[in-house]
Amino acid sequence: MLNIVLFGPPGAGKGTQSEKLITKYNLIHLSTGDLLRSEIAQKTELGMKAKTLMDNGDLVPDDVVIGMIRSKLNSNNQAKGFIFDGFPRTTAQAQALDELLSEMNTQITCMLALEVDNEELTKRLLLRGKDSGRADDQNEEIIRNRVKEYNNKTAPLKDYYTAQKKFYAVNGIGSIDEIFNSLCQKVENIYIPS
Ligand code: ADP
Repeated sequence: MLNIVLFGPPGAGKGTQSEKLITKYNLIHLSTGDLLRSEIAQKTELGMKAKTLMDNGDLVPDDVVIGMIRSKLNSNNQAKGFIFDGFPRTTAQAQALDELLSEMNTQITCMLALEVDNEELTKRLLLRGKDSGRADDQNEEIIRNRVKEYNNKTAPLKDYYTAQKKFYAVNGIGSIDEIFNSLCQKVENIYIPS
């Protein structure tokens, strides 16, 4: 299986590049942000609890997102592979993911990190806020809180995957196709399809 963790701060382009990677490599897209927004749209209890946290740019509790990922992995056990987008975001989530995948006799192939500087990120998120309708993209203070959460809780995952020799960084500034090509080059250097 090809199991990719797509990594990078809010606004790095994970959603855009995920779409291209799933098409090229025939993967299942697991975005915890999308899964949570769908819970909110359906007004479930989980969604209502998550909404307040998300609107403030705070992370949702680990057990909630781990539970969602567990159920998606279980219902897609015939997949060729997965792309994890916006997950894991904490070390506890990364450890849980390793355990869930090992129960399926598979593992993470690589973490691909999109590197984009802070100034460019804020610009992109405010621009997206104009037409995405996402409350968390509209306000600079909330964006700053998301970046703070990222730096405190998510950035350390670079070390987690470096220790497993699975961390690869790509320049996240450039055209969508340029960045996509850099990502594919990494995948093709690492992954030998069986
Ligand atoms: P972005 O990467 O642009 O911030 P996402 O759609 O990935 O957007 O996430 C939006 C919000 O959903 C986050 O700010 C957080 O509140 C919540 N969220 C998404 N994934 C997770 C996760 N793995 N753990 C905790 N909270 C999450």
